[in-house]
Amino acid sequence: MSRLVIENGTVLTMDDDRQVHFGGHVVLDGDRIAAVGPGAWPGPREDGDEVIDAAGMAVLPGLIDLHFHTAIGKGYSDHLPLWEYLDTCWYPLIRNLDADAAYWAAAASYLESIKGGVTTVNDMYRRLPDLGRAAADIGIRAVLSNDVALDEHQLDTLQDNKDAYDAVHGRADGRVEVYVGIEWLPLASPELLRDARALADDLDTGIHVHLNESLTEVENSKERFGRRPTEVAYDSGLLGRRTVAAHCVWLSDTEIALMRETGTQISHNPSSNAKLGNGIARVPEMLAAGLNVGLGHDAAECNNSLDMFEVMKFASLIHRAARVDASLQQAPDVLTMATRNGASALGHDTGQLSVGRKADVILVDTRNVMFTPLIPGNADQLYSHLVFAANGSAVDTTIVDGRILMRGRQLLTMDEPEILRQANAGFQRVLDRISPPRI
Ligand SMILES: [Zn+2]
Repeated sequence: MSRLVIENGTVLTMDDDRQVHFGGHVVLDGDRIAAVGPGAWPGPREDGDEVIDAAGMAVLPGLIDLHFHTAIGKGYSDHLPLWEYLDTCWYPLIRNLDADAAYWAAAASYLESIKGGVTTVNDMYRRLPDLGRAAADIGIRAVLSNDVALDEHQLDTLQDNKDAYDAVHGRADGRVEVYVGIEWLPLASPELLRDARALADDLDTGIHVHLNESLTEVENSKERFGRRPTEVAYDSGLLGRRTVAAHCVWLSDTEIALMRETGTQISHNPSSNAKLGNGIARVPEMLAAGLNVGLGHDAAECNNSLDMFEVMKFASLIHRAARVDASLQQAPDVLTMATRNGASALGHDTGQLSVGRKADVILVDTRNVMFTPLIPGNADQLYSHLVFAANGSAVDTTIVDGRILMRGRQLLTMDEPEILRQANAGFQRVLDRISPPRI
């Protein structure tokens, strides 16, 4: 693969010193970052080098969507609270997926992510081999996990998850990985959690679980197990550095301490929590306790947008509003959650623009009214615009592993109109299988 030389942009490295290079450069050599710095790249240049003029663009690490589900049917009975929504919509839909529907739903979901500057998704869903094909074809980095639950719920089993691991883990030059997924505790048992931990250890991979998402989940856990969800997860060995716990809205002080003791990774999904009426996570306390907190959109059914710029804004405003405190969740810290923290949670070499890191880079066009006014050379204002003013439509270019997936907002890896056609057809097909049909 030839080198890609990105020049003349405002480079927000998100490195340890949060260096910003105005009129700087980033050089990608194959799937790695070969140079980052101020001014023009001194070279030496070669004939095959491709140059991107990033004048008027912010150049930053790709965003990490730390809690993600491929979505087949957003805007469908989405007036319901979480538990009713799952029973009447989500589970029937995903029980009736076929291979094509899963592939095209994943392609459409990854398309929306790529268009919004997301380079990595942590995707819990079903039919992982079909999702893996979609991720490989469109070029996004994807960590996949199954919707594992007790058998009576007719979702996935740990054997399904192991089979998926054997089938697709490490595919697409390592861009596709497979974790062990647990749907959530109301559909699980302590034994299933212990078996999930054993499988993850056996496969030497991570775990993805919904945890403490709603008050009903906490009540269910206390009723069935006599303890809060995180306490059950802790006792079962499910927590740990390679476990991503999504939501964590209703954590007690004890549960925050258990997360800290085990080094468990947290995905904060504020817009999903708000839409489903689940509450506001205690992020200030989690950060004060030293937990690593990344951001996720959750699912288009629960959000209804995959736009991580929207999620970033929510991840600031919701806490400021709830605590009556405008000092919380400053823009550079929120962008750190959406880049570095997400990458760190997944153990990935992404999330910052530093030499030797993976070449996952996005270019955000600032030559539009969302970024106006913008004082040249003012990093604080640029961070602020990225988190509070912009949305994903400002993303011009998305690069994963040094490969340009989107440029000038045009998807280069697949046929975008075909993805939309097939995703619509897939949703209709699956909907027709649900009896009685409902919308
Ligand atoms: Zn979720």
